[in-house]
Amino acid sequence: MTHPEAAERFTADVDRTTWHDQALWFIRQKRDRQTYQLPEWEQLREMASQIKEHALSRLDVYLEEFERNAQANGVQVHWAADAREHNEIVLRIIQQHQAQRIVKSKSMLTEECHLNPFLEQHGIEVVDTDLGERIIQFTNEPPSHIVMPAIHLKKEDVGRIFHEHLGTPEGESDPQRLTETARQHLRAKFVAADVAISGVNFAIAETGGFVVCTNEGNADLGVTLAPVHIACMGIEKVIPKLEHLGVFTRLLARSATGQLSTTYTSHFHKARPGQELHIVLVDNGRTTQLGRPDFRNSLKCIRCGACMNTCPVYRRSGGHSYDFTVPGPIGAILSPNIDLKKHSSLPFASTLCGSCSDVCPVKIDIHVQLYKWRQLIGQANAMPAGKRLGMKGLAAVLARPAVYARLGRVARKMLAMTPHALSHNGKLNPWAIARELPEPPKESFRDWYAKTQM
Ligand code: SF4
Repeated sequence: MTHPEAAERFTADVDRTTWHDQALWFIRQKRDRQTYQLPEWEQLREMASQIKEHALSRLDVYLEEFERNAQANGVQVHWAADAREHNEIVLRIIQQHQAQRIVKSKSMLTEECHLNPFLEQHGIEVVDTDLGERIIQFTNEPPSHIVMPAIHLKKEDVGRIFHEHLGTPEGESDPQRLTETARQHLRAKFVAADVAISGVNFAIAETGGFVVCTNEGNADLGVTLAPVHIACMGIEKVIPKLEHLGVFTRLLARSATGQLSTTYTSHFHKARPGQELHIVLVDNGRTTQLGRPDFRNSLKCIRCGACMNTCPVYRRSGGHSYDFTVPGPIGAILSPNIDLKKHSSLPFASTLCGSCSDVCPVKIDIHVQLYKWRQLIGQANAMPAGKRLGMKGLAAVLARPAVYARLGRVARKMLAMTPHALSHNGKLNPWAIARELPEPPKESFRDWYAKTQM
């Protein structure tokens, strides 16, 4: 299903669309208030962008330095070229410990690798411990946002889901009572877990340590109680030095949720006595993206979600309409790297207003890359046939000024005579489904110019 088709499903529920739009705009405004309070905000963005630029330019060096230092700390480091290898490594560690009960905190990388279904196929129970992730795990849905995975659901929806899966009273939708129920339910899972899986927000080459940021403390509780901790990390997460970390943690919380800092910023260096600590470093297409000069800086992304919260298309079409692990503007430039044909509609899911680039804390030129992907998709003939034909026709007209002028004259006349019901027929003119067409002008700019210059 293309993005417009999937978006149409979401927008069919007008109330939900409006509410989703407003909820994300509220977060965007919270983010703005925090950034106004930091006079050095732009300096921080620039610094973060340059640190990432530098780290990406020597990624191999910093990854090896990270590996050496992590191993010196007693951490077991694994390398995975793709999602399959990642999943097999995690499964092997779990099987070595004959573990059956796994708790997992939020990790977009494990979503990207489809780790949960893979482990479940091998008879292993995985419980997502982030509240939003647990909710959508019950409904068997992917996250619709990278920071707020269940943002597409209302509290009444959560009430229904908890009634079905956790036995809360029917009609209960009080957030505090629902959260308390989830807390009790998850506590039992934490205590029983044999292995805890976490993501990684930042890995520091200099120390071999890594940082996990959560607001619920679920990652900390899971990895502290379980005898084995597996941290799964995309290779782009490495930063050179500990002194760089503060730049990113200051930017991340403010950009993601408009908080001063994430509630729990936990540092891991070595396993506790009696525990094992593993890190899986995963490529899964990242080095391909690194090798594309026009798109490599998309690897600077710190997964704050700010570009989603500000995007007028994402806010109104919902995360599931992107059909990719990372939705929104950043997902639209990461996804064609993985499968150009499948995700060819995503770079077009943008107004190119540039708001995503303006809020991005690491200054990724997202809208420029969206435009570049459109060109590549056109060259690769990966657009839907109708659109391809339309573009070819338009190119032929725009290349011939006389034809353009003549057709313009015809179109102005035709449009003025076409009944409103016909010109706004969604099947004939999808553009006008939610928009009013402007009044056709009496004359073209070209005619007006010729007249006034005489
Ligand atoms: S692209 Fe920028 S704004 Fe979007 S999630 Fe990544 S870091 Fe945040």
